[in-house]
Amino acid sequence: MTIRLVLLGRQGSGKGTQGARLAVHYDIAHVSTGEMLRNAIRNDTPVGKVVKDVIGKGSLVADDLMASLVKGRLGDADARTRGYLLDGFPRTLPQAHALDEIARARPINVVIDLEVPRELVLQRLGARRAAEHRVDDSPEAVERRLALYDEQTAPLIAHYRRQGVLAVVDGVGTPDEVFARLVSAIGSATGVTARGGDGQSRR
Ligand code: AMP
Repeated sequence: MTIRLVLLGRQGSGKGTQGARLAVHYDIAHVSTGEMLRNAIRNDTPVGKVVKDVIGKGSLVADDLMASLVKGRLGDADARTRGYLLDGFPRTLPQAHALDEIARARPINVVIDLEVPRELVLQRLGARRAAEHRVDDSPEAVERRLALYDEQTAPLIAHYRRQGVLAVVDGVGTPDEVFARLVSAIGSATGVTARGGDGQSRR
């Protein structure tokens, strides 16, 4: 059985770290749109050239471009046969509608809202700024990304609640505690406990 998951959460909620670990745990593709875009910039591809300034400012890349990137990636053999975890998409209602279309034949099993209060993500992003030096972790870009999340991404929660696929998970705690909650929420929603390694090993 394949599983298809969406992980929603503010920047700094831990969704990147947890997403990578869940993808190993369930042996599914980890599709992070932020990573895809950062790779495109690093490799100076045509997409990279278009999105570079947008990302640096902490703004959102155009919905159409994002939808076509995601559609392409979810059509790859690994995502089709094993399933996937989407991290960073959808971020707007038009993107959620695009995903409804893309996933029509093979619907999303569960959408997780990883909940972490704003004050805590600000602390975590401050620490990341010192450790990773991401261009979009500047204080201005962080403010902008958090505001965009509240405006554009939070409405997705109602969209998925209406579809009956939403699971809310508390993202406050140690990484292991949060991971255990995620696995338990996914288990309740899909009946699948684990498929891959122990969630620690690398593929
Ligand atoms: P992330 O690593 O998910 O925080 O993404 C980093 C940046 O990439 C975001 O601040 C946006 O500029 C851009 N980005 C990633 N995913 C999307 C998306 N689904 N829609 C629009 N922009 C995105």
